[in-house]
Amino acid sequence: MQTDNNIYDLIIIGAGPIGIACGLEAKKKELSYLIIEKGCLVNSLYNYPANMTFFSTSDKLELENIPFISNNPKPRKAEALEYYRRIAVSNELNINLFEKVNSVNTGEDGRHSIITSKAAYKTKNVIVATGFYDIPNYLNIPGEDLFKVAHYYDDPHYYAKQKVVVVGASNSAVDAALEIYRKGGDVTMIVRSPEIGERVKYWVRPDIINRIEEGSIKSLFNARLKEIREDEVIINTAEGDQRLANDFVLLLTGYRPNFEFLKNIGINLSDDPLLIPQYNPETMESNVIGIYLAGVICGGMETHKWFIENSRIHAGIIIGDIKKTNS
Ligand code: FAD
Repeated sequence: MQTDNNIYDLIIIGAGPIGIACGLEAKKKELSYLIIEKGCLVNSLYNYPANMTFFSTSDKLELENIPFISNNPKPRKAEALEYYRRIAVSNELNINLFEKVNSVNTGEDGRHSIITSKAAYKTKNVIVATGFYDIPNYLNIPGEDLFKVAHYYDDPHYYAKQKVVVVGASNSAVDAALEIYRKGGDVTMIVRSPEIGERVKYWVRPDIINRIEEGSIKSLFNARLKEIREDEVIINTAEGDQRLANDFVLLLTGYRPNFEFLKNIGINLSDDPLLIPQYNPETMESNVIGIYLAGVICGGMETHKWFIENSRIHAGIIIGDIKKTNS
């Protein structure tokens, strides 16, 4: 294992949009910084569905007022990758990619030691901007580990002429159901609630409701997937259990932050099912001095609370506080 002998002003964990925003701000304020990312640049975005369209307009996704020019009213995944990559590359941000942070320990001198999959570092401050897209909300039902089951959706082509069950009723599930139906898949949505989610993109919601009403996409509301077998699924409904012939299952029931990682760093989580990490909203500093939280990680299980639009401001708040504390 290599040892980096620098003592950084700050190390940012995660090169998502918000980690990049923090890096830009740190560079502007002449702090010594390093961003460490376990995957590729904007790894979460890279793993979004191929045809994904953002719900935000491009100006709302901009960092540091660097123009995000999109050909569409709402930008697409490929445009966002282009935008954030150009920012990182042209600003020569100091980023190590494909290097996972395994631990952060705070010493008695207040310095933080970081161990990654490749090296050891020391830093005065840490920003945790690790998002929530790495860990799916598992249903923990029999058959969830079968080859035909996925917790991430990419492209509809794979599912043409197949019987596909989509579990969930939020944006990811609705986008997948519509795309697969339009590429010749036989789609059944299984929805726990009585209707399609309220937060589904306003221009997509009528589309899915109409496809369900006309019967092009089948749906079972107030229903739960109980078991997945090689060639069928068992669904629990108000009328009892139903069996449905099936080829593939997409479990698009959301994702969650890595709470174990936060706890191991020493960050307190709220004592309720939301598991909101403790931080001071005026500085974004957590209960561990010198460790800050930025981006969607701040919402705990409320993964819809923070997004790029409203969390890009965390960068300015945190770097402002670090400058003040370190001066
Ligand atoms: P992320 O982008 O998730 O970045 C976290 C990074 O940390 C990842 O690259 C990850 O690989 C890395 N990481 C994690 N653990 C480690 C570790 N131990 N070591 C090193 N690196 C690590 N928001 C909007 O504002 N507008 C939208 O239209 C919009 N549409 C969305 C559509 C979808 C399908 C989804 C899922 C989200 C959408 N969001 C939208 C939310 C937005 O994309 C996320 O809020 C955004 O990615 C958050 O940025 P982030 O930097 O906080 O986290």
